[in-house]
Amino acid sequence: MLKKILIANRGEIAVRIMRAAREMGIPTVSVYSEADREALHVRLATEAVLLGPAPANESYLVISKLIDAAKKTGCDSVHPGYGFLAENAEFAQAVQDAKLTFIGPQPRAIRALGNKLGARSMMSKANVPTVPGGEVKSGSIDDFKSLATKIGYPIIVKAAAGGGGKGMRIVTDEVQLQEAVEAAQREAKSSFGDATVYLEKYLSHPRHIEVQVIADSFGHTIHLFERECSIQRRHQKIIEETPSLALTPELRTKMGDAAVAAAKAASYISAGTVEFLYDSGNFYFLEVNTRIQVEHPITEMVTGIDLVKEQIRIASGEQLSFSQADVKMRGHATECRIYAEDPATGFLPSPGKILHLKEPVGGNVRVDSGVYSGFDVPIYYDPILSKVITLGRTRDESIDRMTLALKDYRIVGIKNNVRFLIDCLNHPEYRAGNLFTGFIDKNLPEWAESETDKELDAAYAGAALAMSGRQVSSTDALPDLENSPWQALGSWEL
Ligand code: ADP
Repeated sequence: MLKKILIANRGEIAVRIMRAAREMGIPTVSVYSEADREALHVRLATEAVLLGPAPANESYLVISKLIDAAKKTGCDSVHPGYGFLAENAEFAQAVQDAKLTFIGPQPRAIRALGNKLGARSMMSKANVPTVPGGEVKSGSIDDFKSLATKIGYPIIVKAAAGGGGKGMRIVTDEVQLQEAVEAAQREAKSSFGDATVYLEKYLSHPRHIEVQVIADSFGHTIHLFERECSIQRRHQKIIEETPSLALTPELRTKMGDAAVAAAKAASYISAGTVEFLYDSGNFYFLEVNTRIQVEHPITEMVTGIDLVKEQIRIASGEQLSFSQADVKMRGHATECRIYAEDPATGFLPSPGKILHLKEPVGGNVRVDSGVYSGFDVPIYYDPILSKVITLGRTRDESIDRMTLALKDYRIVGIKNNVRFLIDCLNHPEYRAGNLFTGFIDKNLPEWAESETDKELDAAYAGAALAMSGRQVSSTDALPDLENSPWQALGSWEL
C-alpha cells in the first residue's frame, strides 16, 4: 500500500482525497499558494508545503515545485485531483521519473486520450460510435466548408486540445464558418498552445450522459454505470444525477459496454470517465476524462464504492476487489455544485469573504466542502465552494431531499448559486425529467433573485458583520430570518 500521498490540488477535492487517505491510515501532505494560507485543505492538514505566489502558474501548476514538495516530505505518491495538472501527461511522467507513484492513469493513456481528435479515431477503431465529424488536414477553409456541408449544419467547431468548454463555436450556416474556425483556432492556440480545431455535427437537443469506468493493472476493466450531466451553464455542468431517466436497461448495458471498450482501447488504468452525447436513442462518444470527476460522489452514493480509495488501491498495485456483476445501483443520487458566482449576471465569479456559513446535514445528505465561515474565497481559482449530494429511494425523493438541504444552506457575504439551483431542480421540466444540455438557456433564461431574497441576504450580512467582533464559526447561530424547513427542529441552529 502507498505510504504517504502528496495532494497536488486545493479546495473540496483536496479535502475529499485527504478524507479517503485518512480512512485508509495513509498520511497526506497538502500544498498551497500564498492566497491559500488559510484554506481548509491547509487547516485540516498535518503537513503542508507552500508552493509560491497565488497565480496557479506560479504555484499549483509548477511541476518541479510539486515534485520537490513530495520528495522533501517523504511522499511516495501524488494524487492530482481534478483540474490543474490532473490531465497533464508531462506531470504524470515527471512524477514517475521522480520514482513516485502517480495516482491516476499512465502518462501514455493521458496523452492518447488528451487529444480529442486522437481519442475520436481511437474510439472509431474500437467500434465506439462518435459524433459525425472530423478534421481538415489541409487547414484550407474550402476544405472546412466542404466537410461542414457533408456533415450538415448546424456544426460545432472544437479545439483538439480543448477542455473546460473553451475553444468551441457553434455555426449554423456557411457564412459564419470561416470566422468561427479562425476564432476557435486563436482561442485554442492561446488557451492550449495548439491551434488544431475540428468539426462535429452540433446536436441540438442532446443529453450529456457519461459512464464511470475503473480498471486495475491486471486487465480488469469495469464500469460503474452512468451519470446524467445535462444541466450545464456555459457548457459546464452544475447538476448531475444517476441513474439517467433516458436509459433503458438495454441502453445502459450498451453504453456501459462501449465505455469499457473505450477504456480498454486506451489500455486505461485507474478511475476514468467516458463522456457521451445522447440523442433520440443514439449515443456518441465525446471524450474521456482521465481523472476523478467533480461529480464522482453520485456514483459512490448509488454503488457504495469509494472511487478515491479505489484509485489509491489500484495505484498501490492491488487488484479490483469486485467484478462487474458485484456492482449494483441502489436508489437515486443528485449532486449540486455550489459556486461563488452570480447566476443573475451570466454566472460571473463572485469571490470574497464568507461572513457566515452553515452547511446542511442529514441522513443521505453529503457535503464535500472546501470552505468555512470566515474564509476569503480567492479570485485566482475555479470558484467552486462545495458540492451537495443527496440519495433517495426515488428521483423525487432525492430532489426533495436536495431542495431541503439547499434551503438549509446558508452562505452569507458572497453571491452564490444556491437559490438558482433550488429553482432549477423544482422547475416542472426538471421534475418531469425533460433534460438536455440547453435546459438552463431554455427554461431559466432571465433568472433573477427576488427582492425579498436580496433583502434577506443583506439582513444576514448585517447580522454576521455585527457578530464579527468575536470569532465567527460554523456553529455560531445567526438569527433565523426566513422560514427554514428545519426551523421547527431548533437544535439545528446551535
Ligand atoms: P470540454 O472538454 O471543453 O468540456 P466537451 O467536448 O466535453 O468539452 O463538451 C462539453 C459540452 O459541450 C457538452 O456536454 C455539450 O453540452 C456541448 N457539446 C460538445 N459537443 C457537442 C456537439 N457535437 N453537439 C452538441 N453539444 C455539444
